[in-house]
Amino acid sequence: MKHSLIFITISTFLATIILTHQTSSIKCFDHPNPLNFHQKIPVNCEFATRSLKTKRKSSNDKFQIKFTCGMDDKKLCDKVQKGFESAGQIITSTISIEIPITIDASFYDFCKTDNQCSIDNNVVAGGANPARTIALMDEDGVERYYPQALVKQLPFEHHPNFGPFDILAKFNSEADYWFEGDDSQIKPEQADFQLVVLHELVHGLGFYSSWNDFFDFVNPKGLTPIPSVEGEVKENMEMIFNGFIENIFDKYLVILSSGEHASNITTIINTIVNEKGKFYETPKDFIVKFKSSPQYLQSQIMLQTATTPFALGFLPKNANSPSEAIVLETTLNPYQTGSSLGHVDYKTYVNTSDFLMTYKQDSGLTLGDFMSIGGNYTGGPIGPRLRQVLKTLG
Ligand SMILES: [Zn+2]
Repeated sequence: MKHSLIFITISTFLATIILTHQTSSIKCFDHPNPLNFHQKIPVNCEFATRSLKTKRKSSNDKFQIKFTCGMDDKKLCDKVQKGFESAGQIITSTISIEIPITIDASFYDFCKTDNQCSIDNNVVAGGANPARTIALMDEDGVERYYPQALVKQLPFEHHPNFGPFDILAKFNSEADYWFEGDDSQIKPEQADFQLVVLHELVHGLGFYSSWNDFFDFVNPKGLTPIPSVEGEVKENMEMIFNGFIENIFDKYLVILSSGEHASNITTIINTIVNEKGKFYETPKDFIVKFKSSPQYLQSQIMLQTATTPFALGFLPKNANSPSEAIVLETTLNPYQTGSSLGHVDYKTYVNTSDFLMTYKQDSGLTLGDFMSIGGNYTGGPIGPRLRQVLKTLG
């Protein structure tokens, strides 16, 4: 049976607002689970002075991979490691990386080790996400979350304390993978490991949107960026709400019909902080008040937009007209956390050189097959539009 792999990098079932706990004036979060980006732990990341030692590295170690293989099959482990290394090489040959990007990658049986077993023949293929995100003030005066891999590349004299890894990645040995160099041809039900890894690493570099229904992931009714809450949030305790914070990716989201930046909608939604204040009796009190506010109407409109085909795009730096935007995935209805918005439009790009970041990839095709279907773009698997996105992010 032919089945598509499920990419669940940013999927979640947790209401993060209840889990947020901020300890320092700089907002940093570690994301320990590559399969659930919304699982996050606040960390102290006060500014440190950049060490001169990390300033220059030779060009061949720009992608440093710590690989752990949970399998006894050494040949298989070697193939997986090679897959990670090749994906890293593709990325370093495409985008300019000043400070090396570090990855903690593992390959093991999710069912045996984590008790995460396949349901209805759908195997979780694996995922990757930024190990740490850091809120930084942008040039437009708006605070946004950056993945650590991007923050590292910024020319700060003093930078926030970094965690040991930029990207966490884990892949499931239960998934039926085909590897470059395998003796046999790819089978209809197999997925090309390198293709999956490359896709996930691009998410780890910042290709993901913050827009979600943080109050109901399963049945979304309105979308917002990430709610930022001060102090420890407990069910029956007073709550201090600081507004909604976008990811850096969201700065470039535009409504294709009007060219309006989605960030303007965030600004309107965030006026709730000025109008209703920051203090709420309980988290529930906040949710009730937010949902009955005029600002919530904007959230509902945003959900409608994000579930209307060809409604939202990513407008790269130096592009002016919405016609130059990369169309994002907004055909899925209901909105699907982890698939909607944080990918390029499937129908528009699946048969082009920008196939890599569609929300699903049909099995039975290798990375090479996708590339030749896309017209053998000379720049490799990272197509021209995706390059623009990555360049824009930093
Ligand atoms: Zn994805």
